[in-house]
Amino acid sequence: MIDTLPIDIQKTAQSRIAELNLDQLTFGHTFADHMFVADFDGKEWTDLRIIPYGDMLFKPALMPLHYGQAIFEGMKAYKSAEGEVLIFRPQENAARLNKSAHRLCMAEIPEDIFMSGLTELLRLDSQWVPQRDNYSLYIRPFMFATDEYIGVSPSKTYRFIIFNCPVGAYYSKPVKVKVETEFVRAATGGTGAAKCAGNYAGSLYPAKLAQEAGYDQLIWTDSTEHKYVEEAGTMNFMFVIDGTLVTPAVSDSILDGITRKSIVQIAKDWGMPVEERKVSIAELIEALESGRLTEAFGAGTAAVVSPISVIGYEGKDYDLPEIKSDNFANRVKIYLDDIKYGRVADPHNWVYHL
Ligand SMILES: *Cc1c(COP(=O)(O)O)cnc(C)c1O
Repeated sequence: MIDTLPIDIQKTAQSRIAELNLDQLTFGHTFADHMFVADFDGKEWTDLRIIPYGDMLFKPALMPLHYGQAIFEGMKAYKSAEGEVLIFRPQENAARLNKSAHRLCMAEIPEDIFMSGLTELLRLDSQWVPQRDNYSLYIRPFMFATDEYIGVSPSKTYRFIIFNCPVGAYYSKPVKVKVETEFVRAATGGTGAAKCAGNYAGSLYPAKLAQEAGYDQLIWTDSTEHKYVEEAGTMNFMFVIDGTLVTPAVSDSILDGITRKSIVQIAKDWGMPVEERKVSIAELIEALESGRLTEAFGAGTAAVVSPISVIGYEGKDYDLPEIKSDNFANRVKIYLDDIKYGRVADPHNWVYHL
């Protein structure tokens, strides 16, 4: 058992666990009984508590509603065949939350508060981690400004919360993507490397236009020339070209994904060549047309890998090769799932045990 910091725990009088129906889950709509909350009072994090998931009361002047100091994380807990709760690389999420906090001029949260809150919350709500293949508990840590003041300056106070949603398998039907050459998700010098709320707001309109044009997702390109691919929707973007795993190098406009990082490590462990560098759309089209590009997929916590079947660029659709069950994306997804559910050895100590 890991020692945790003292946390005040107020249990719910009415657990909703009996209403949980795993066959009727839609992503992000079902919430576990409790949440962890901590407040930054301008000097330190105080009032560490676990309380029932429920309403919060704020005034209309709450700063993040106006100026957007709001950041989040996303990760998952899994239940092993033995019933143990396993969390995939949560310390990476704690570190990334603080990188986002730094960029958005927010308070950083010590890792021991993050990990203590997470650990105690999941111990209390362990029944909410589904014990079923492809099911997991999606964990949403986030932080927002709590000053109630209309002025453009960093808030002095912040709230950190973790709540949880049981989720089923994310659809992994191959997706049709469109290379975006007008709008940008993130610009050089902007906030693209931070997991902040505003990045998502700005992506909704271009994504809606792409959906109206018959695509599932966008491929974001660089903000200066629209020449280099950056991310696939809200996932990192990876390809197999001539047997090499190729992915755009992380930059200040690309989110440093933990799934991406894990897949790169596994490819290296398997002896596969890996290149993290700039990838131009011209190179991709050329590799596609000459048959050297065999796989393209998005990588992220929600779907793990999301294979791509069609890439649309400047009005033309390019079909990707048929997705075979023994391709890299499938093998790496199965292997990652095996690690996450505790079915195989965990050579890099990625799994956190409560
Ligand atoms: C969260 C996120 C990812 C994926 O990161 P993971 O840590 O693998 O879940 C990729 N791109 C963007 C823009 C994201 O917000």
